[in-house]
Amino acid sequence: MARDVSLKRVTVLGAARSGIAAARLLAARGAKVLLSEYGAVSPGALEDLAGVDIEIEQGGHTDQVFESDFLVTSPGVPTSAPPIQGALARQIPVYSEIELASWFCPAKIIAITGSNGKTTTTELIGHILRSAGRPTTVCGNIGTPFSSTIDALTLEHTVVLEVSSFQLDFIDSFRPDVSIILNITPDHLDRYDFDMDRYAASKLRICSRQAGKDVFIYSMDDERLAAFVRDTRWEDGPQALGISASEQTASPDNSDAAGYLKDGSLTLNIDNMEETLMQPNDLALRGRHNVYNSLAAAVAARVVEVRSDVMRESLRSFEGVPHRLETVREVDGVRYVNDSKATNVNAVWYALESFSESIVLIAGGRDKGNDYHKLAPLVKDRVRAIISIGEAAETIQQQLAPHVEDAVIADTLKDAVHLAHLLAQSGDVVLLSPACSSLDMFASYEDRGDQFKQLVSNI
Ligand code: ADP
Repeated sequence: MARDVSLKRVTVLGAARSGIAAARLLAARGAKVLLSEYGAVSPGALEDLAGVDIEIEQGGHTDQVFESDFLVTSPGVPTSAPPIQGALARQIPVYSEIELASWFCPAKIIAITGSNGKTTTTELIGHILRSAGRPTTVCGNIGTPFSSTIDALTLEHTVVLEVSSFQLDFIDSFRPDVSIILNITPDHLDRYDFDMDRYAASKLRICSRQAGKDVFIYSMDDERLAAFVRDTRWEDGPQALGISASEQTASPDNSDAAGYLKDGSLTLNIDNMEETLMQPNDLALRGRHNVYNSLAAAVAARVVEVRSDVMRESLRSFEGVPHRLETVREVDGVRYVNDSKATNVNAVWYALESFSESIVLIAGGRDKGNDYHKLAPLVKDRVRAIISIGEAAETIQQQLAPHVEDAVIADTLKDAVHLAHLLAQSGDVVLLSPACSSLDMFASYEDRGDQFKQLVSNI
């Protein structure tokens, strides 16, 4: 619902991509904007904002941020930051950038969240909708800020929006037509006082305003999500549609089940019309996690009435997203796979599960409070050697070395690739799937993945 922000005093916290887009959107709608940045605003950002009528402060937040009708915060600003806490104490509303953008969005919104699989599923849905000839905008956490897409949107568009839990911490009226929660497993707990319930609560907020004909798609195999749907008594809530990779789900008692495996095939069942879609082997993306992602995408596409043949063809032709189980090259019969985006333990679990070959695993980086023991059964079963890097290297060795033939610490990624080359045997997979963030040694997970690809190409 469009809100009038003209002449409102608004502070935007954080001058990275989404903050800049929010400031521009607000200025264009007549608000008096202060863009406040804790560090230095980059020269590129200043250039980008030249000619936009806003005030900028950098190198710290002053008390001027509290002279606002409301604040818009960026996902990178922690909730504990003084300007947010100060605003909340003064009862000044704080909104996230997607909340702001949603006020001015004329298009239908499909919003995707979860601990893992957001980007893949967002891109999959974008690909299906584009293949169906629908005007489609893919944005959000994936890269392009939602606020920067608003001017190009029409009623005919569908926005496919990747949403992080940080963006959901500060929503108010944000109401997607279709929301998806893929899974809720430990990640980013450092931003939620190591409290899993608080982290889960922020993800569940994605459907809190949904009603009427809105649809909420969730994984029935995720205990927390299944319990949430079982225990929630919506007065006028969304229609809950479940997905599952378990054959048992395809039973008549499961009225929520809308996408599942039946006799090995991906099957859709919406409004009691059961339809076999395709075999998992025909999906472009391998691994059980991608069965979930594909089912979620297919149910969403069905809800917005995409034809099955288009869906099938799109799921077959999807090219995948870089840094997610991306095959780099094969050398001496060894396949090198870049999964740099696996920044938590659960993502590594699915990566290991998706190979039948023996694996030489390169893992490590900045630890976010990980418990690597959860990987032990799969490591025992499939991993030949572990090469650990970065701040988490020792912990990984302590927890996983007993389960493999070879376990070593490498000082650099270059050394790790060199060691992997020595330890791998023909027919193996060398997998970079770190379970950790990249920030101890790299600028970003993309940088880590790109360096890995470069090193592999030099072997
Ligand atoms: P996100 O955007 O949520 O971080 P991505 O699609 O970028 O998710 O994938 C991140 C990592 O998680 C990759 O290593 C990928 O292989 C793995 N992954 C993808 N989908 C799932 C899923 N449904 N469950 C668990 N892990 C997944």
